[in-house]
Amino acid sequence: MISEKLHVKLNDQLNFEFYSAHAYLAMAAYCTEENYDGFANFFLVQAEEERFHAMKFYNFLSDMGQRVTIAEFPSVKNDFTSILDVFQTALHHEKEVTRRIYELSDIALDEREHATMAFLKWFIDEQIEEEATFDTLIAKISRIENDPNAVFMLDEELAKRTFVAPAE
Ligand code: MG
Repeated sequence: MISEKLHVKLNDQLNFEFYSAHAYLAMAAYCTEENYDGFANFFLVQAEEERFHAMKFYNFLSDMGQRVTIAEFPSVKNDFTSILDVFQTALHHEKEVTRRIYELSDIALDEREHATMAFLKWFIDEQIEEEATFDTLIAKISRIENDPNAVFMLDEELAKRTFVAPAE
């Protein structure tokens, strides 16, 4: 049985995943404005992933007989100074997501809430991937920042990213 404390925290995370989708949509919009359609595509796909994450929380809470409530979203960052700034902001955001998932896991562990612990395991693994992806891209962009041809090539590469609903 999920405690009220855990219920509230899980519902908060559902809303934070939707907030993440908004944050990435704003990053996509900046990239489009800067004529980096590939980077924009990367963040549009990222936003879709975040909505998918939110719906995993939605379905889990529903399956556990817990009421879902949708909150108002705080405004997201829309102003960036460069593509590197965008990716650094994204990594910073993902580290915050990881912190929140760990906090949730700690509560589930304290309460011996095994169903929630099993559910959160997927997100713990996912966060390793998310942080690694942004880490790698930041390293690449830092290296090629002043080489327009190389930036163009990376933009082309990221244009190919498509949303695939992750396997359970
Ligand atoms: Mg997420």
